[in-house]
Amino acid sequence: MSASVAVPFLDLQSINARFEPAFHAALRDGMARGQWVLGSEVAAFEREFAQYCGCAHAVAVANGMDALELVLRAWGVGPGDEVVVPGMTFVATWLAVEMVGATIVPVDPNPTTFTVDSAAVRHVLGPHTKAVIPVHLYGRVAPMKALCALARRQGIRVLEDAAQAHGAELAGRRAGSFGDAAAFSFYPAKNLGALGDGGAITTDDAALAAALRELRNYGSSQRYVHRRIGRNSRLDELQAAFLRLKLRSLDADNARRRAIAGRYLDAFSDLELELPPHDEDSDASAWHLFVVRHSRRDALRQALAERGVETHVHYPAIPSAQQAFAHRCALSASLPVSAAMAAQVLSLPIGPTMREADVSRVIDAVRAAAQEVA
Ligand SMILES: *Cc1c(COP(=O)(O)O)cnc(C)c1O
Repeated sequence: MSASVAVPFLDLQSINARFEPAFHAALRDGMARGQWVLGSEVAAFEREFAQYCGCAHAVAVANGMDALELVLRAWGVGPGDEVVVPGMTFVATWLAVEMVGATIVPVDPNPTTFTVDSAAVRHVLGPHTKAVIPVHLYGRVAPMKALCALARRQGIRVLEDAAQAHGAELAGRRAGSFGDAAAFSFYPAKNLGALGDGGAITTDDAALAAALRELRNYGSSQRYVHRRIGRNSRLDELQAAFLRLKLRSLDADNARRRAIAGRYLDAFSDLELELPPHDEDSDASAWHLFVVRHSRRDALRQALAERGVETHVHYPAIPSAQQAFAHRCALSASLPVSAAMAAQVLSLPIGPTMREADVSRVIDAVRAAAQEVA
């Protein structure tokens, strides 16, 4: 698109460079201990992450998608059951439902908050609905109070997809503490990212946590005793050690993201650009992404690229439009809000190590580009 990138979308090198000496020390400790799987680092990370989220238990797994899928499996969700998911989300939310053989029931998100609300979910509930997966898309917590109240009344379970919302808060509670369980991803680009893949489930349900500990480890909690059909979905010791180090900076990193979002919101308020929601609730968004909407999104993206500002689109196609789901005819049902989002959303650079000068540069570029494509 452009000759040179002056402001990258996300500078993962500088994010992790802050921890490099500590990472090296963690590797040296690992070499000295010689225990690489399900050892003391994973156990400590699980304790610390559960406490951070305000939950009784955290179970570390190999990635965010496994976190989603294993919870559905532990709940016995399978063929014949329906699971409600947002029409606009990363494809993993949908794939997790597909993997357990349950039926995906998509709903459009609220067009101003990007998250699903209880009215939309209520509309699609039926006798076969077993669970709903609200996604805290872009870092903003879905309206969990109403969703959980609805789910309780209907006897269905709530699985938060918190893969984009580490540390996000709603009414003083953290993402991951609202539903019956929550799935997190530690993919490198997330707000809390490993040096590779990783994931976790948080829950207050001790029996669920125990089942998940078996499911992630060949269905076993005691060596060579297999009580259920499980798999290998373990977080390794090294990643757990890295994540423990980075968890200590998560609140400061999210505060920096919030400050950048605040500058963008102020600077763009007079532009012909749809801004992300910024009521009081969004003050506590984890601001995983700063997503604007524009009817000429591709032209805006091109104009920003010409000014050295790298952007991304989350996501250019909704899951139901993907070839992978072509065999699910029922899913091509109309999702007008989701489809419009896919055509209009644009994610601007945001990250904990972004400097003020880079933020200013993005602001100038967006103001100029918005005028150019108006
Ligand atoms: C990243 C992400 C996932 C999947 O996490 P992985 O660790 O990449 O498997 C699931 N849901 C959402 C909303 C995500 O952003």
